[in-house]
Order: sequence, then structure tokens, then C-alpha cells
Amino acid sequence: MKLMAIAFTLSEVCAAIVMSIRLNPMKDLCLGIPDNAQLMAEKRDPLDRFTRRIIDPLREIYSLPKAQIHVVYTHDIRLMAFNHDNGIFLNLHYYEICHDETVVGGTPNTALISWYFTFAHEIAHNLVEEHNANHEYFFSHICERYLPAFTSLITQPEGAQAGINVEG
Ligand SMILES: [Zn+2]
Repeated sequence: MKLMAIAFTLSEVCAAIVMSIRLNPMKDLCLGIPDNAQLMAEKRDPLDRFTRRIIDPLREIYSLPKAQIHVVYTHDIRLMAFNHDNGIFLNLHYYEICHDETVVGGTPNTALISWYFTFAHEIAHNLVEEHNANHEYFFSHICERYLPAFTSLITQPEGAQAGINVEG
């Protein structure tokens, strides 16, 4: 269950924030990280796919402003996402390892489903910081509330959304 991998220490979260890459605007990069430009160049394609095929559709479903979403790249791929100060941070490295291959192959549904629930988990943290019954309540409510819109996103034939080959 991927959501189990979301609890992290403050130092891990801070390290991830330091490495954060703001999506909007793209030029607004975190400064002071020597290899940030190199990282951006190396990860341009997966970042583009993560943004266009996963983040943007889900952000629209949840009506989240771009400014609330940040992409981070950490070496620890157990980190999928976290919420800091009502900002939602998504780990490009996790996406790259677990989902990019299927997205490239035109079958993004598994990735969309995984990130749909991750978004709901992190949005619930806007209301409740801890993992407790209240957080679970809001997480469930958010999942139910947006499921019809999300279902319409993934019930298209695999590949139609990406405009490439349908899964055999
Ligand atoms: Zn959490």
C-alpha cells in the first residue's frame, strides 16, 4: 500500500523542500543547489510527463491552484509526497521509478489511480496534520467527492488520453 510510505521526519521534509522545483513558473527554481540546473536538464522529459499526464489532470479534478503544487526530487524513493504549510510536494523520483515507464507506454491509468489517492491524502492534511481518525475521515470524504470526475478521466481506453498506442 503506497500510502504507507508518506510519513517522514521533519529533516527529510526540509531536505526535500530545499530541492524543490516549482512548477509555476518553471524558471522559479530553488537557488543554491549546485546541481539543480543539471538535474532539471536530466529530468526534463519525465518531469514534463509527470506534469502533463498526471499532475495537471488531477489538479483540475481537485481544483487545486498551480501554486499549491510543487515537484521535488529526492534520492529516497520511499517518499511519494508530503504536505508542508498547505503546499503539496510530489516526488518526481518516485514517479520516475514506479510510473514513468507505463506512462511512456501510453497506459497511465495505474499511475493516475495511485496519484489520485495520494492527492486526496495530502489534501486531507490541509485540514488535519496528523494521521488519525479525523485525517482518515477527510481522506475518505475527498476520495468519494471527486471519484465521479476521476472515473471519467480513467475510463477512456488506455492510450487515448496520451494519444498513443492502446494497451493490448
Ligand atoms: Zn500523511
